[in-house]
Amino acid sequence: MGFRLANIAGRAALVAGDHYTDLATHSSGLLGPDPMEALARPDLLAELSAGLDDSSVTGLLADVVLGPPVPRPQKSFAIGLNYRAHAVEGGMEVPKSPLVFTKFPSCIVGPTADVELRSDGCDYEGELLVVIGKGGKDISIADAWDHVVGLTVSQDISDRPAQFAAKPPHFDLGKSFDTFGPTGPVLVSVDEIADRDNLHIVCAVNGEVRQDDTTANLIFDVPTLVSYLSHITTLVTGDVIFTGTPEGIGAAQGKYLADGDVITTTIDGIGTMTNRCVRVSDYAKVGA
Ligand code: ZN
Repeated sequence: MGFRLANIAGRAALVAGDHYTDLATHSSGLLGPDPMEALARPDLLAELSAGLDDSSVTGLLADVVLGPPVPRPQKSFAIGLNYRAHAVEGGMEVPKSPLVFTKFPSCIVGPTADVELRSDGCDYEGELLVVIGKGGKDISIADAWDHVVGLTVSQDISDRPAQFAAKPPHFDLGKSFDTFGPTGPVLVSVDEIADRDNLHIVCAVNGEVRQDDTTANLIFDVPTLVSYLSHITTLVTGDVIFTGTPEGIGAAQGKYLADGDVITTTIDGIGTMTNRCVRVSDYAKVGA
């Protein structure tokens, strides 16, 4: 028995069906309201979740705005070209070792947040987000899933001109504009998910399906990524990994995001995010 964890106005909440229960209240003070604190206590979350009943309901999900389930990760990794077909569509070589970059934690927003476009070359990338529970160093591939507290849906929004402005290209900034990391709707504990290595992911823009794949096609799978990263940097509770996007990005089709576009991103067994794009002022370019 696991749990589904949401962030409602900065407070952790357990989700059951279409209801939520405030975690601090339900735990009688065993846990505070901070969603980051909750991530360190998966066993307690499962126990509290099992004890939910009609009397513990705080409210309806339909009546609230969800924030990012992991609002302040210490580290936010992302993986480029981690699906073979996506590497091919970009005319890139299939990587022999993980292509890792950073999405600064400041870009992380909730599952219904607006995405601010600051050029006409912005792109969607639907992705599975992995959230570290128990931290560690030099984690083996065999032990890696034990360090994952849960999974959620994410978008690795990318400003392609900024991503490729410098030579050689440097991904971090072009993928870290404010609002470029929608995540949610809820964090789902791994034991709630039927087949953790084979999750159906779909990304649509204005209802048109652009990406449709399964995480079974990841080149470097979740245990490999967790293990690899942990051999370089100590992982801590709440660190997140954007695991890479499947084939079908806008850049490969000349279909960039525009003002008013609505991106929907779904992973079966986890949920759906809906994010509207808003075209704001251009950012000030240097040397362009
Ligand atoms: Zn990506």
